[in-house]
Amino acid sequence: HLSKRLETVASFIPKGAVLADIGSDHAYLPCYACLRGYAAKAIAGEVADGPLRSARQQVEKAGLSHLISVRKGDGLAVIAPGEADCITIAGMGGSLIARILGDGEDKLAGVRRLILQPNIGAELVRRWLLDHGWELVAERILKEDGQIYEVLVAERGDARRPYRHLEAELLLGPFLRQENSEVFREKWQRELRHWKRIIADLAEKGESEAAQEKKRELEKKVQLVEEALP
Ligand code: SAM
Repeated sequence: HLSKRLETVASFIPKGAVLADIGSDHAYLPCYACLRGYAAKAIAGEVADGPLRSARQQVEKAGLSHLISVRKGDGLAVIAPGEADCITIAGMGGSLIARILGDGEDKLAGVRRLILQPNIGAELVRRWLLDHGWELVAERILKEDGQIYEVLVAERGDARRPYRHLEAELLLGPFLRQENSEVFREKWQRELRHWKRIIADLAEKGESEAAQEKKRELEKKVQLVEEALP
């Protein structure tokens, strides 16, 4: 049994893909993908020893050692160019995901689809995709155990295409904004409340230039989101 979060990520793996799951931890995602026949075979990459051991154990326990290669390394360093055609990176911050993609750009040769699940900072991932010729083709937002998660799917193409109001949609997600689901509205109501609390605090105590600057920045963000919410 896989979490709803990882199941959503897995649902976007093209049938028969050679998958590289980066930051795989227990390797639950590549195991599930191979068992269900989403992926033909997979590479599970991990930088840390503990999770690497868990991944090896899990792959062995599932009897998938012939299909899944568990490798130690930073980001995309674990694959050769052309080796994988689908990459998943889940459960990390958006800045780390963008850094991993940027550092390993030569390894993206032959990759047809990226499936990315940033825990925070999805905006940074969208911006990276936009700047590097990857077109967002789908997005999902879901809630599990009180947490809200976003899943971004990208393929090579016209990176600008999905966006109408660029600045706001880099933040909100063009497909998520269009869909305007209950979970989406909840996420942005939460964010707005949070930002407004900080603005009120800054107004009360922050007399420094830096505090004023921070307050103006947040006010701009609040305005951007409020205007862009459907
Ligand atoms: N992908 C799994 C998931 O979504 O459930 C695990 C998420 S876990 C929170 C993040 C994992 O990424 C950790 O096991 C961590 O060791 C690994 N990680 C962090 N930075 C990494 C990097 N630069 N390269 C490879 N793995 C990394």
